[in-house]
Amino acid sequence: MLRVVVLGAAAGGGVPQWNCGCPVCLAARTEHPELKSTQASIAISADGAHWFLINASPDLRQQLIATPQLHPRAGKLRHSPISGVILTNGEIDAIAGLLSMREGASFTIYAHPKVLSILKANSIFNVLNEKVPRQPIEEDKTFEPTLPDGSPSGIEILPFAVPGKSAWYLEGEVHAAADDGAGDTLGVRVRDKATGKHFYFLAACAAVKDDLRSRLAGAPLIFFDGTVWRDDELIAAGLGNKTGQGMGHIAMAGDNGAIAALAGLDIERKIFLHINNSNPALLHDSAEREIAERAGWQIPADGTEIVL
Ligand SMILES: [Zn+2]
Repeated sequence: MLRVVVLGAAAGGGVPQWNCGCPVCLAARTEHPELKSTQASIAISADGAHWFLINASPDLRQQLIATPQLHPRAGKLRHSPISGVILTNGEIDAIAGLLSMREGASFTIYAHPKVLSILKANSIFNVLNEKVPRQPIEEDKTFEPTLPDGSPSGIEILPFAVPGKSAWYLEGEVHAAADDGAGDTLGVRVRDKATGKHFYFLAACAAVKDDLRSRLAGAPLIFFDGTVWRDDELIAAGLGNKTGQGMGHIAMAGDNGAIAALAGLDIERKIFLHINNSNPALLHDSAEREIAERAGWQIPADGTEIVL
């Protein structure tokens, strides 16, 4: 049985974002606290006892407190059910949570060599001591993360490249690893080895091309980049000068948006993740929310658990 817990569904900044007075952030602070959401991350487990995080958001501490499955086991003085963290990119909202895991538990970090090089180049991550091995992963090559005692987890991960861009804070910088775009943005397929049940996780994706459409066709479940509703949303709302594309994220709407590009593929359950607070589809009574739901998409609340 494959268990998935949505620890957070929001994009960088969360909902509400500390310095934002947009309609969604304002509503989350006042009459609609149910809109509150932490930054995107999920936890997965094949046995219900050992868990792996996919990305470690800056809100990780809050997410762990809110998730009983990830609490230390009763009777243990020091313990965490978290056996590993799989990183799909090097953005702050995917890696900063590692700094909240510095108190000496043993787990493994799995990431593309490019992301590992970012961690290595930033000495603050050295607070994760020798108990935290860093395991490189390769595109198009499956791996099985292990439990702290070295035994297999029963979960098979297949990382694959998706259109994206390098981390925001590295724009214009000489990268510690190669600067060819490889390893910037990964999608992953997560599969329970015992049952064959699987799902896809793509928290960032700049475009849906035919190869991705065929990969996702017929999937039982996908988590997909829902950062913005429309490409120029931040600019139109006066919130910033970046487009969705400029940040490496496909829009939900429009002819080339995720809703249109992933329609008709016989995907059983489609869930948007990494949703920016500027996105009007977050508002329950918005026209955008209705369009997304009519197209079969869900916007999850933090803490949503799914069993496959
Ligand atoms: Zn906002």
